[in-house]
Amino acid sequence: MKVKILFFLLSILVFCNVEYSQGLLETNLCINIKNNSDLDFSKDTTVSYVVTTPFINLITEEIFLDNFNEDTLTLTIENLGFLNQLLSHLFYHNINIAAKNSNSKTESNSFDFDGQKLIIPIQKKTKSILINYDYQSDFFVRCGLNFDFQPQMYEWQSWFFTHPKLKINKVEFNGFDESYFFSNLPYKTKNSTINLETNNLKNFDISFYLLNKDSYIKTNYTFDNINFNLYFLSKQNSDTSHLYTDRFFQIKDKLVLSLQEINKIFPPAKNKKQISIVESDLKIGDNQSSWGMTKTITDSTYFIYMDSSFWRDNSAIHEIIHTFENSNIEHEDSTKLFFHESLIEYMSVCVFYQNEIDRQLVLTTKMLDFLSSKEEVKSVFSIKTNETDTENNGHGNTGLIYNKTPFIINYLALLIGVRNFYEAAKDFYSEAEIKNKFLWSDFEKIIKSKGVTEEQWKIFMMSL
Ligand SMILES: [Zn+2]
Repeated sequence: MKVKILFFLLSILVFCNVEYSQGLLETNLCINIKNNSDLDFSKDTTVSYVVTTPFINLITEEIFLDNFNEDTLTLTIENLGFLNQLLSHLFYHNINIAAKNSNSKTESNSFDFDGQKLIIPIQKKTKSILINYDYQSDFFVRCGLNFDFQPQMYEWQSWFFTHPKLKINKVEFNGFDESYFFSNLPYKTKNSTINLETNNLKNFDISFYLLNKDSYIKTNYTFDNINFNLYFLSKQNSDTSHLYTDRFFQIKDKLVLSLQEINKIFPPAKNKKQISIVESDLKIGDNQSSWGMTKTITDSTYFIYMDSSFWRDNSAIHEIIHTFENSNIEHEDSTKLFFHESLIEYMSVCVFYQNEIDRQLVLTTKMLDFLSSKEEVKSVFSIKTNETDTENNGHGNTGLIYNKTPFIINYLALLIGVRNFYEAAKDFYSEAEIKNKFLWSDFEKIIKSKGVTEEQWKIFMMSL
């Protein structure tokens, strides 16, 4: 017994020692948002980048080396796509690196950067490394020029340097005179400085989104327990404000009707919800398909950004329905896209097109679009991602998820009626809430309990 305890104590000591000697790097990130006019072009010979985006971020990344004993620090840029592996160095301008010693004196430090790896020789006396650079988003490479909105998504390309042992202490943003700011993380604002909360950070996933204030009209609307912050592109309405006002009221009326319908499927929010919706010109691929995304920031705050055309059909409602789903509930892998995307797309069609004939026409057109797209005919259960592949001319599984599968779901609803289908969806969501899991077996059981026969279920499954 004693030997065992001793061994246990020894292993703890060895473990702690290993942890200590490998070191844990800590970093502070400070980002200053700059407008083109603030930049000193003369410093950089590759001025072309400045023309392609109005949003340049002056970034200082300070890495503390208290527990670091190696003579070289190697940092990397994460999530580089194939194209960006070749282009990456173009997005990080004027890099300069300084070493800070214990007297807080700084001196220039050599480095080597190939677009992906940043290699920095470290001297014994160095306490921290300061990396300064101008960063521009790669968004224009993926989606074309956009001077109004700039998503900077970590999943598309890391905008800071990472290390496997890196812990992010602080992320601070400054300089919002000309931009609105959003992030995938919650944040606090103090004296016009924004500090992100990084406690629950996973995989360095820090994304931020900038909006040119001049291009947007911000408006606010409350329905039930939901507070909508809407950001409309002002240029679309030219300079006639009455057009803008008309558009807002049209959207608002449609929103109210749709939300009343959504309340039949999902129980109204218990606590106050904040949904910010930003419209922009977001097209992707050679067929220029519109796209958008919903980010859950906390249990009660959401950020949606989407192409302006999303207001014209059920697409904006699709994104809004995402805010009603409980994102903490687990999915079975094979059915995730069915429930998380196709079913939501189907419900958004029902909610937006409340007239039966309109709805059938929209769903039939979806199926015709899918058939004419030459996309491979396969089952929604066989695919794992709904991402549009920007490096493959925008081809993906979009038609299968958002056109074909909702058309097949409509078959079930036609058998039992839309009202019954809403009821089934409502029962299914409360069942999932209790079990903390979306189960296909529950969906089957509930749909059959509303009157779908074994034979009809088989036809549905075969068609999916
Ligand atoms: Zn979706």
